Amino acid sequence: MRQQTLKQEIKIEGIGLHSGCPSVLTLKPLAENRGIVFCRTVEGKTVEIPALYNRVVDTRNCTCLAQDGIPVSTIEHLMAALYAAGLDNVEIGCTNQELPIMDGSGKVFYDILQKAEKIEQNAPRKYLKVRRPVEFVDDKGNSIALKPNDGKNLHIRFDIEFSSKIVGHQTFDEDITEDVFASLIAPSRTFCEKYQIDYLRSLGLIKGGSLDNAVVLDGDNILNPEGFRVENECVNHKVLDAVGDLFTSGFHVLADVKANRTGHFHNNELLKKLFANKENYEIVE
Ligand SMILES: [Zn+2]
Repeated sequence: MRQQTLKQEIKIEGIGLHSGCPSVLTLKPLAENRGIVFCRTVEGKTVEIPALYNRVVDTRNCTCLAQDGIPVSTIEHLMAALYAAGLDNVEIGCTNQELPIMDGSGKVFYDILQKAEKIEQNAPRKYLKVRRPVEFVDDKGNSIALKPNDGKNLHIRFDIEFSSKIVGHQTFDEDITEDVFASLIAPSRTFCEKYQIDYLRSLGLIKGGSLDNAVVLDGDNILNPEGFRVENECVNHKVLDAVGDLFTSGFHVLADVKANRTGHFHNNELLKKLFANKENYEIVE
């Protein structure tokens, strides 16, 4: 496979989940081997922020990157869509420090990028093959691990456990093919519990949050009148986040991932551990 970029510029507009303010993305073609690069202009100064795990500065409510003190946050759903649409090199201008939340899933981004005209570049795509198991376990026992597989695919096994009976225990266990991404992962929305909303609002967050961009659980019920979009939507969304975060490795990762009740923090710690030792992986074309 060769690397790909966009044939022409694409604009995507929405609002930031936390700020509630307009956020406009301008996606542009970028030269081979440049990767995904965010671009923000603040007070007349333009900064490039490479979408890499070692630029991650905050993982509390989303994945937030920064370069020279200029942040860009909530990158994970767009990163997953870029990965699945086979885009390797794209510059992304963003008018807001937060990417637009759209419908809370990766569907809008993926639909636009999948249909977009692409250019094959000369350089071959680079893949990261995991050679030795790498695991990150937090102090509560939640864990995420990478294990070598046959080196042909990214496979994710993800388990979540919620007290709400409408979620309970959900498992995702699939190869991340483009079909699986399009049908199960991309449409799965972010979710939260109703009691968390008041807390987040008290922190001045989720000003743009609504039932149009999140699944809200209230005890054993779902507040969204349309219900869930797909079976096991909650765990599927965690997989969307993981796919997006894994793409901050700068590569298409070939490995078996096993995650148990983890999130952005764990995804980033796992990548730091992976890259801490060159014996853990090899880069292949
Ligand atoms: Zn998410």
